[in-house]
Amino acid sequence: MTAPPCRLLLASIHDVSPRFESEVDRLLDLLAPHVGKRLAMLVVPNHWGDAPIVRGSSFATRLRDWADQGIEMFLHGYFHRDTAGYRTGADRLRARLLTAGEGEFLGLSRAEASNRIAAGRMLIEDVIGRPTAGFVAPAWLYGNDAHEALRQAAIPIAEDHFSVWSPATGRRLATGPVITWASRTRLRLVSSLTASAALGRAPIEVLRIGVHPPDVHHSTLLHSIGKTFATAARRRRLARYSDLLANDRTGIATQTSRISS
Ligand SMILES: [Zn+2]
Repeated sequence: MTAPPCRLLLASIHDVSPRFESEVDRLLDLLAPHVGKRLAMLVVPNHWGDAPIVRGSSFATRLRDWADQGIEMFLHGYFHRDTAGYRTGADRLRARLLTAGEGEFLGLSRAEASNRIAAGRMLIEDVIGRPTAGFVAPAWLYGNDAHEALRQAAIPIAEDHFSVWSPATGRRLATGPVITWASRTRLRLVSSLTASAALGRAPIEVLRIGVHPPDVHHSTLLHSIGKTFATAARRRRLARYSDLLANDRTGIATQTSRISS
């Protein structure tokens, strides 16, 4: 009889950019006791159009060092900010309410999404000297055209709020919510603290935990993040996103399934 599949924990730091270098350092220190360097970074090539990652810069060297230490590097949008002109008021409202204007890949055309994916990927891969692990859209929001662009670019791994999948193969790699902390308003802060406490113990096969640079400015969040990682890391095997791909190939994952187009 084979042992039941081990529950996994995937950790990520979002919005890695020269703009947030000191916050990223603090998040790395916070996560280190729980995950070491087994985590993903979601890298923004040019946050808001005025924080570019420049080849040969000291920040580029740091990115490469982190990648050399085994941190998985994901492309995370290009500008992060939502600059699309929405065709309908409903789309505009959805974008603003859900993302505070940060859903860059929600309203892009396929051509523009493809351009930004290609340019961002080339930059990050030049800098880290290896392939990127995948793509995660800012605010986890993808328009239909963005999905199509990811398929065309054969991106190995992508994720949203509820799942991880492979645009390249069309396979779903994991399902279940991602734990994250929203620090923009007090109400969201309280609800994210409650949710993280519950989800940290939930019977989910693959638990994802994502932290953001502004989290470091709230001591209650730092405490909650530390506690959630401690709880989750005790009950789960720490994994990399690429492990999901390997598991899928060998048929180990229990929740993989074909997703339609
Ligand atoms: Zn982000």
